Amino acid sequence: MKKIAVITSGGDCPGMNAAIRAVVRVALTCGVEVWGIRNGYAGMIDDDMAKLDSRSVGDIIQKGGTFLGTARSEEFKTLKGQQKAADNLQAHGIEGLVVIGGDGSLTGAKQLSELGIKIVGLPGTIDNDIWGTDYTIGFDTAVNTALDAINKLRDTASAHGRVMLVEVMGRACGWIALTAGLAGGAEIILVPEQPFSSDDVCKKLVESRSKGKKYSIIVVAEGASSAIDLGKYISAKTGLETRVSVIGHIQRGGAPTVADRLLASRLAERAVRALVDGRSDIMIGYQSNQCVEVPIADAVGKKKDIDPELYRLADVLSQ
Ligand code: ATP
Repeated sequence: MKKIAVITSGGDCPGMNAAIRAVVRVALTCGVEVWGIRNGYAGMIDDDMAKLDSRSVGDIIQKGGTFLGTARSEEFKTLKGQQKAADNLQAHGIEGLVVIGGDGSLTGAKQLSELGIKIVGLPGTIDNDIWGTDYTIGFDTAVNTALDAINKLRDTASAHGRVMLVEVMGRACGWIALTAGLAGGAEIILVPEQPFSSDDVCKKLVESRSKGKKYSIIVVAEGASSAIDLGKYISAKTGLETRVSVIGHIQRGGAPTVADRLLASRLAERAVRALVDGRSDIMIGYQSNQCVEVPIADAVGKKKDIDPELYRLADVLSQ
């Protein structure tokens, strides 16, 4: 393989830059030319791509976002759009492609592989919802951002004796809520994977007050409930004073943590070496502290469950 390209697609996440940097530098080490595609699949359709060298990816390992830009492209979901994108790659002599993104982006990569492009996917999303990998690039940074918010909100919840509800991201998945909630000592963690009733939440809060708890932290995954609605319900039902913080998109930004930079660099190296060695149509995942190759068809379209052990532990520790 003489020429490959790298693309970031879907929602951006911290660590994408570290992954691009590693793709470029490992490829150059292997004597392979690398191109960068701007603005996700939209840029691939528009032929918005250019050659990268080692210097093009200098000074980015520490930055959140993606210097290539990212986008969501409806046109790419059509066969016509995919064919146009594949034709553009082939016109440049690009044989292999590293796609960094979430489930939608990896599904798009699988479609491209069916049009003759050799692809390797890297799981890049803060949501940690990709099957076949213990962690996705960006998750650790997002969790640390959520944890920082929880720590700060705990100070003020404690000072006023309030119930503080913190809504975190994660789409239909509770990994960010569970992990940040456990690490932040939340009393209640609400995730989409575990059905709950608002009345049971109220009951638990009232009981914990009677046991001497002076304030409460509830972490709510965006896919489980609206923290704003739940906060209103709790104060109407129990008379407890509630405050709500929806952390929002700051969870998607910021300098990637050590864990995300290492994960991105390791997965990216493996992706390039797989392409160079003639393996493709795979996603590089991280399982039990090892990079592993997972058929892309197995990784996409599935939901990775939250860890039931973590959920159980969070419940035990919240007493
Ligand atoms: P995140 O999890 O951060 O939102 P994502 O990669 O899942 O990232 P999506 O918006 O779902 O984000 O997908 C990104 C892009 O991938 C879409 O805009 C589209 O161009 C392409 N894509 C998504 N689903 C498909 C599909 N079923 N077929 C082809 N392309 C797809």
